[in-house]
Amino acid sequence: MVNLPYIKLRRKVELHAHLNGSLSTESIKELGKKLYGANTTAMESICKRLVDVDSLDHCFSKFPLMHELTSTKRGLQLATELVIRDFAKDNVIYLELRTTPKRNAAMSKMDYMVCVLETIIESMKTEKILVRLLPSIDRAADVAEAMDTVNLVLELLPKYDNIITGIDFSGNPKVGKFEYFMPALTKARQHHLKLAIHCGEIDNPSEIDQMIQFGMDRCGHGTFLSETQLQELGSKKIPIECCLTSNVKCRTVNGYEDHHFKHIFNSKVAPVILCTDDCGVFDTTLSKEFALAQQIYNLTNDDLDYLLMMGLENAFLENRDRIYLLKEISPPNYGI
Ligand SMILES: [Zn+2]
Repeated sequence: MVNLPYIKLRRKVELHAHLNGSLSTESIKELGKKLYGANTTAMESICKRLVDVDSLDHCFSKFPLMHELTSTKRGLQLATELVIRDFAKDNVIYLELRTTPKRNAAMSKMDYMVCVLETIIESMKTEKILVRLLPSIDRAADVAEAMDTVNLVLELLPKYDNIITGIDFSGNPKVGKFEYFMPALTKARQHHLKLAIHCGEIDNPSEIDQMIQFGMDRCGHGTFLSETQLQELGSKKIPIECCLTSNVKCRTVNGYEDHHFKHIFNSKVAPVILCTDDCGVFDTTLSKEFALAQQIYNLTNDDLDYLLMMGLENAFLENRDRIYLLKEISPPNYGI
């Protein structure tokens, strides 16, 4: 039985959420209305493009709409506010957002990042949520862009080191070679930024080996990790960020029953965390993902509490903030 109320009421930790993909359909419409007002043609065009995702390629084809809506400072600011508000509504008390710095006619990459960072700071004053940012390196973009992003982040760190806690490596896994991006990721690591790497989203064993050898602080998806690769991550206590609905809708797994979460959770071969990935694109919430996991894999409420704690344990956080969140998240019988 889906136990949505229990998990909905629990304070939660979301560690794998892309800013643009996390805009729900309702929030996209709300954003459209705020941006275009009474312009019904613009709104009709937005609604027409809001279709269900049913493959990995389709998922990546849905992002241009969000990128268009966030191509101005006002659009980006409103979108960031709406995403944070929606997570807070779902009782997410700690959120790590990811986004690729973008440049366009209206904004430089620096403008883009400052807009997101300042909106995060403002939103934390009104919503009961702690937010951190992982700027993303897009593997589908030019390698020079990656180094550019890392340099930009290093420039921003003196002012925003309490908000930027790591770097995300993501983008279409069918495009780009991991090894080309290693110098940029190495530079980030040398400056004590944590690394969340999308790894094993598609079946590419040699790249997965390369990524594991290079090292990471968290593994995104890990769908096609072999048992040996899983054990290697487990021996280093590197958690796998599992995103159930994302993988099912992108068809990188055959269905919820076949999702690798089940094996990792039951065998405890490596730490595992439940995340949404792109809750807007995949029409889900973190509460729904927990409820689905409970229903499909027969998890108890204690199992859900354990997963919440795994999220907190593996958050890219200062210990002071982790202790604060531990008190907020702990179930009543946890003895805190
Ligand atoms: Zn992702």
